Amino acid sequence: MRPEKITLNYLDLNLLTIESARNAVQERQITATALAESFFRKIQSEDGNIHAYLELSKDRALAQAARMDALADKGELLPPLAGVPLAIKDVMVTRGVRTTAGSKILSNFVPAYDCTAVARLEQAGAVLLGKTNCDEFAMGSSNENSAFGTVCNPRDLSRVPGGSSGGSAAAVAAGNAVAALGSDTGGSIRQPAAFCGVVGLMPTYGRVSRYGLIAFASSLDHIGPITRTVKDAALLLRIIAGRDVMDSTSAEVPVSDYTQEIGRPVKGLRLGVPREYFGEGLDPEVGALVQTAIQSLAQKCGCEIVPVSLPHTEYAIPAYYLIATAEASSNLARYDGVRYGFRAAEAGTLAEMYRRTRDQGFGAEVKRRIMLGTYALSAGYYDAYYLKAQKVRTLLARDFDQAFQNVDAIVTPTSPTPAFKLGEKADDPLAMYLADIFTVVADLVGIPGISVPCGQSREGLPVGLQVLGKHFDEGTILRVAHAYEHARAAS
Ligand code: GLN
Repeated sequence: MRPEKITLNYLDLNLLTIESARNAVQERQITATALAESFFRKIQSEDGNIHAYLELSKDRALAQAARMDALADKGELLPPLAGVPLAIKDVMVTRGVRTTAGSKILSNFVPAYDCTAVARLEQAGAVLLGKTNCDEFAMGSSNENSAFGTVCNPRDLSRVPGGSSGGSAAAVAAGNAVAALGSDTGGSIRQPAAFCGVVGLMPTYGRVSRYGLIAFASSLDHIGPITRTVKDAALLLRIIAGRDVMDSTSAEVPVSDYTQEIGRPVKGLRLGVPREYFGEGLDPEVGALVQTAIQSLAQKCGCEIVPVSLPHTEYAIPAYYLIATAEASSNLARYDGVRYGFRAAEAGTLAEMYRRTRDQGFGAEVKRRIMLGTYALSAGYYDAYYLKAQKVRTLLARDFDQAFQNVDAIVTPTSPTPAFKLGEKADDPLAMYLADIFTVVADLVGIPGISVPCGQSREGLPVGLQVLGKHFDEGTILRVAHAYEHARAAS
C-alpha cells in the first residue's frame, strides 16, 4: 500500500540530508510527491524574507516525484537521488523553465534544453524545486548585483548571503532545499557556502561539464554542489562529474565513488598552511577559528601540518579581474536583443537597437566588466594587461605545483571576513573584489576547493575553512573536510 500523505514538519525538512530524504522515499515513509509539496509550502511561507528563489518549477518537480513514486510502488530499487528536492542556480539552463542569470536581458528567456549537470541530477531521480537568485551573470560576491532583488542571509537577514551563488547557499541554509548546484568562477560556490554556514565544493576545472552553464569566464567557470554535509557534496559530485561530449573541455578522467573515499582515514596526510593567507586583511576572529580548525585536524585527525608559501598570492586578484572581465566581455557579446531575451523598444536602427538593448538590459556591474574586459583585450593594451595576467596565472600555478610536491592538501580561510551587511560594500567595487582574495586562486589554477563550516563569530556568523587539492584529487579534499566535520561534531 502507498503510504498516507505524511507531511514532514519543518524541523525534519531543515535536517534532511540527501541520503535520509532518498531513503525515506525508498522505504516509503513518505512519497516523493508529499516531500516536494512540503518543500513548496515551506518555501512559500519562508522565502519571502530570504528571496533565494527566482522561479519555482512545480510542474516539473511534481511530474518527476510522481515517476519516483510509481517506481517505489512497484517495489523497485530507486536511483541515488530519488525524490530528493534540489535547487539550481539560475545560471544553468533548464528546458521549459525560465532562466535569467539574474539579468534583465534574459528576463523572458525560456531555454530549449537542459544543462548537463541538471540533466544528470534528474536522471538520478532528483526533484528540481526551482531556480535560485544570483548576481547578474554570476558577477559579484554579495548577490546584490541581481536584477531581481537581493538575497538575505538566513543566519542574519541584515547581511549578505555571499555571492554569486547566494540564492543556492541561502536556500540550503534555510532548509528550503536539501542541496543545490552553484557555479564558481572566482569563489562563488565556496564564499556563499562559508557565509551561510553550509558546505560548498568547487571541482577541478573540466571535472564537471559546463554544457548549459551560461558563460561568464569560460576558462574559470565551474559547476559544483552546495550542501549541508560533506557526504552530500561527495554524493552530488559523483553524479554530475565526468566526460560529456557536449563540452570539449570536460575531462576524460575517471570519476571515483567519493562517498567511499570520504570514509578513508586521513591520519598522516600532510596539510599545507600558506603563510600568505594569514596576514593583513584577515579578520582576527576568522583567523582564530581557522587556526583552531587546523589544530583539530592535527590533534584529533592525525594530520601533519606543514607551513608552505604561495609567493605570488598578492597578484591573484588583479590577474583574476583582468582575465575574468576579458572573457566576460567576449562571452556577453551574444546578448544583442536578437538572439535571446530582452529587446529595447523604439530603436530606429539596428545599431541603436543593440545599444539600447545592452544599455537597458545589463546592470552597472556587468557594464563595468564589459568595459574593463574590452579595454584589457584591445590592441595596444593586450600585452600589458591580458597577456601579463595570463603569465601571472602561470606563476600562481607553479606556486601550487611546488607546494603540492610536499603536501596532500592546503588549508586556508575561505573568506577574510564573515558575511558583511547588505549595502556595506555595494558602492565600493574594489572592496568587494578584495573580498575574493582567498578563493580566486583556485579558479585561476584550476584546482578543486571545498569550504566547510568551522564555527561562528561572536555575533553568531558562520565561518568557513577552505581545503584546496591537487588537480582531479577531489577525493582528498572531501576526506579532509569530512574528517574535520566529524571531529568538530564530536567535540
Ligand atoms: N566574486 C567574484 C566575481 O565577482 C567571483 C564570482 C564567481 O565566482 N562567479 O567575479
